[in-house]
Amino acid sequence: MTAAENPPTAIEDADNSGGSLRNVAIAEIRRRITTGELPSEVSFSAATLCEELGLSRAPVREALIVLEQLGWITSQPRSGYLVAPMTLNELRDLFTLRSLLEPRAASLAARHIDDHPTEGRALSDFADQNDDPSTPEWLNRHYRFHRRIVVLGLNRELDRVLSETLLKLERYFTIDTVHRALAAEPLDHRPLSNAINRGDHMAAADAAALHVSQAQLLVTEAILSSDSMRSVPISRSSKAHTRRSNAKGGDR
Ligand SMILES: [Zn+2]
Repeated sequence: MTAAENPPTAIEDADNSGGSLRNVAIAEIRRRITTGELPSEVSFSAATLCEELGLSRAPVREALIVLEQLGWITSQPRSGYLVAPMTLNELRDLFTLRSLLEPRAASLAARHIDDHPTEGRALSDFADQNDDPSTPEWLNRHYRFHRRIVVLGLNRELDRVLSETLLKLERYFTIDTVHRALAAEPLDHRPLSNAINRGDHMAAADAAALHVSQAQLLVTEAILSSDSMRSVPISRSSKAHTRRSNAKGGDR
């Protein structure tokens, strides 16, 4: 196996591959966005972040540029930065990406699992646990479970896109109604973990596809049932409205 094909032997190695100050700042800003410490409706400044993170301007500014390019924040003329709002469109788009890419990642992981038994055991450990899904620890372990599968696939570009997608989705998993839905009906990761550990690449792809669609349904339904969604106005599309007012002999 060449160096380029040689995967990180563990997810920890993959996560620690870029420990620059910029990456430290990126990780901390992402964490604050995910937990809601940086809410989407309040602007924040680079200077305040430098102070709070104990970092100089250069790495924090670089981190903010990267996060803006990735769609986590937007810069506001003369008033700092705003966290991008959570939307049903973004939620749908993130799950669409997962549904396209995760079956492939799971299939690749199943092909390589024999060479990485420790990673296989780590997958089983998470899948067999019964931890409270409303805790930050569960969220972190859940991310690492899915990330571990992608890392096992030995495709760095797939890892780059999917890890970003998984991180962006974490915000939606911290919503109260999603916590409650997860507690009432925990997502079962065993079929996916078992198929990968058996080295059954077709079953792994099927299990990943099913898992992503179940997760999407659970999260979307939980968000749509939340009180905050009840007050969202339903607007008529202007096109439909125009068509109707222009129509002669309509149904009035
Ligand atoms: Zn999952």
